[in-house]
Order: sequence, then C-alpha cells, then structure tokens
Amino acid sequence: MSDNETKPVSPEDKNPVYSHTDSSKVVLSDEEWEKILPKDVYHIARQKGTERPWSSQFENFNEIGTYYCAVCGNALFKSDTKFESGCGWPSFYEPISKSSIIYVPDNTQGMQRTEVMCGRCKSHLGHVFDDGPQPTGLRYCINGVVLDFDKAKEAEKAYNEGRKNSE
Ligand SMILES: [Zn+2]
Repeated sequence: MSDNETKPVSPEDKNPVYSHTDSSKVVLSDEEWEKILPKDVYHIARQKGTERPWSSQFENFNEIGTYYCAVCGNALFKSDTKFESGCGWPSFYEPISKSSIIYVPDNTQGMQRTEVMCGRCKSHLGHVFDDGPQPTGLRYCINGVVLDFDKAKEAEKAYNEGRKNSE
C-alpha cells in the first residue's frame, strides 16, 4: 500500500484503529468497540448480526474500486470480483488476498455454514457458500454495513503494483 494515501472523509477521526495501511491485528473488547463503532456496524460486526436483505447501498452498486472492512479499514474485496447473486446482500467470488479473511465453521440456526470474518479485526462479515461463479465457485455473501468502499484509484493502483512486484 502507498504511504501517501489520501482520504478526504475518514472514519479514523472517531475510530483510532481504522487504517488502510496498518496490517497489525486489532484486538479490542466489545465494550471498546461499542464506543467507537456506529450502532449498526457494532451490531453486525461484533454481535454477528445480519442486515435486512436488499437494504445495502452496495447491493446494487457497480463502481470500480476497493471494499474495506468498515471496522478496521482492512482491504477485503476488489470491485471486479463482485457479482449479481440475487441473494439480497453484496456478493463477491474472491477476497483481495488470502490473509484478508478468516473462515470459521458456523453450525447455528440448524445450518452448516462457513462464517467469514475480517482477517485483521475478526469482525463478522457474513458467510461464504460454494454456489458462486467461476473461477472460484465461491459466493462471499457480505453485510454491506460492514463494508467501506473507496473508489480512489490509489488503493487499486498500489494493490496492482504490489502484486506485479511480487510476481
Ligand atoms: Zn476489520
């Protein structure tokens, strides 16, 4: 990531752990999270809530850019892996990197599902299912409330350059 990243309106003001560049793990108590996060974000991210289907601004949203964890700023998905799933939540077929997401078996509500959490702050994001499109065949079904979108070219460019350099 570039270190001269500029973000005009940033959640950093209220949230001291929010960062697009710091990848160190974030561990806070629920009490602390409750103080810095908006109510709806806290409910989904820390209490494993689920937003109403079709309620997300990102459900029908096709801008080009990068999706970040709204809790800590960790990069999660690129817009070109987003697809119309028809399930009512923003859906992606591939995370931005292997370490951006943590997978946990979820056997609640009489279902066998795989929960996906942010790799940096362990916030609940949603679930991943194996009925997605190629090339992965996966469908990451994510609560839009816990996503931040940045259409600034900066992040995208830095990510692509980083990838080029590591090839
Ligand atoms: Zn996070």
